[in-house]
Amino acid sequence: MTELAPAPGERADSNGAGIAPIHHWIDGASVAGASGRVGPVFNPATGRQTGAVDLASVEEVDRAVRSAKAAFGSWRSVSLGRRAELMFAIRELVHARKAEIAKLLVAEHGKVLSDALGEVTRGLEVIEYACGIPTLLKGEFSEQASTGVDVYSIRQPVGVVAGITPFNFPAMVPMWMWAPALACGNTFVLKPSEKDPSASIFTAQLLQEAGVPDGVFNVVHGDKVAVDALLEHPDVAALSFVGSTPIARSIYETGTRHGKRVQALGGAKNHMVVLPDADIEMAADAAVSAAYGSAGERCMAVSVVVCVGEVAEPLIAAIRERLPRIRVGDGMDPASEMGPLVTREHRDKVAGYLDSGAAQGARILADGRETTPAGDGFFLGVSLLDEVTPEMDAYRDEIFGPVLGVMRVATYDEALRLINDNPYGNGTAIFTRDGGVARQFQFDVEAGMVGINVPIPVPVAYYSFGGWNASLFGDSHIYGPEGIHFYTRGKVVTSRWPDPATSTVDLGFPQTR
Ligand code: NAD
Repeated sequence: MTELAPAPGERADSNGAGIAPIHHWIDGASVAGASGRVGPVFNPATGRQTGAVDLASVEEVDRAVRSAKAAFGSWRSVSLGRRAELMFAIRELVHARKAEIAKLLVAEHGKVLSDALGEVTRGLEVIEYACGIPTLLKGEFSEQASTGVDVYSIRQPVGVVAGITPFNFPAMVPMWMWAPALACGNTFVLKPSEKDPSASIFTAQLLQEAGVPDGVFNVVHGDKVAVDALLEHPDVAALSFVGSTPIARSIYETGTRHGKRVQALGGAKNHMVVLPDADIEMAADAAVSAAYGSAGERCMAVSVVVCVGEVAEPLIAAIRERLPRIRVGDGMDPASEMGPLVTREHRDKVAGYLDSGAAQGARILADGRETTPAGDGFFLGVSLLDEVTPEMDAYRDEIFGPVLGVMRVATYDEALRLINDNPYGNGTAIFTRDGGVARQFQFDVEAGMVGINVPIPVPVAYYSFGGWNASLFGDSHIYGPEGIHFYTRGKVVTSRWPDPATSTVDLGFPQTR
């Protein structure tokens, strides 16, 4: 059984200062970095550095891609039945080791344990979907398309696939990619976030234990150097990226310029519209949960509540009333509901939106700096900004922290315009008791994922996840049916098995009748 990969600071190979090395995983083995460059990994709850992650050179990325390329031929030949069996084995192992993965997430990302367990559970759903790969890859067949001629379609893997993932879901977002990619018969090189890389290495060990052949799944750690090497590598056929919008745009442009298939999911600014007929208590619970869960470090976090008409005062009062009860603390403390932010720099940047918001005319109704737990952790208490307007930085930027903005509009049409004028289009939600208005919202709104009285509408695994506009570059959403499509190429076969006795030379264009 795979040994639990302990949090870096607890590892036996930690140095005297409790800083453990975090290596690449290439061709079924841990490979120490040779570039001479490492990056710090922190426990955000203590502010202490616990790990030093290798940052790959171009040569190390090439080694991982070569390993994946060498494994591709035999992996794509593995029968569908065996691939399904392996996916089931992976599912069982991830399920059994869920708590350990979650602890790694808490130790490097900072989210609270219950949230980390939720992350692994949502990732598991994508693995479970991939267990149905024999059904998902079924093609079509037309018998007698022409006399004696049959036509059928098949889907085949694209080859070596690279995945580049963000810090905020260090286990789930990689699962969105590698589970369908491997099930389809591709081999994989993962470049996880350098801020919380350990879950990826633990995953690699679990895949090996499940029976996935060496070279099929590789992990290279790194920064822009590693990403650029993947983008330019001639043997990488497709690339999935999830991260911030500026990087997503540049990954899409560079990857496609190098002839690759690319899906690049970017950042977000998610609006939650509350109509005057909404259930105020339910809307307040939803806004608080979706804004401050995971300290706001979710691409589907609610960042702005758009209050329509007279709902503003009672809704703001209900939200304010809930804030002092949110328990902020170390993610391993079962009492904590919200953990720290991922780095000190990010915490300071998020706090800066309170100053800029106030300077630009917003009213601070709750200032998280006043309720931040003591100590060196990267904590920030929950904040609420009222009277936010579209030109403020606190509205224009994603923030990605525990700061909820409130905007007040007079009508549904004004709320809709606000969302549709925003450059992002990831998730959005409407809270109302009026089915007709909700249906109109679903029809009108420019966003890829819509919640009706549901604040975080992350699609279940048998639908696909993806935003619109600046929240997604490329044609394909991720996981679900679009994921299967992205990781495969179509082929259509036209076939005749003629009776040799009837064969003749015919130079005419083939006819279908
Ligand atoms: P990020 O864009 O900084 O990093 C994402 C990945 O890109 C990391 O692996 C990182 O190492 C790499 N990277 C960073 N800078 C790079 C550069 N200059 N060139 C090449 N590669 C680079 O994002 P993050 O801070 O890790 O994650 C948070 C962001 O991800 C937020 O914007 C969030 O909305 C977004 N996100 C989006 C989704 C979605 O599904 N749309 C899901 C999760 C997170």
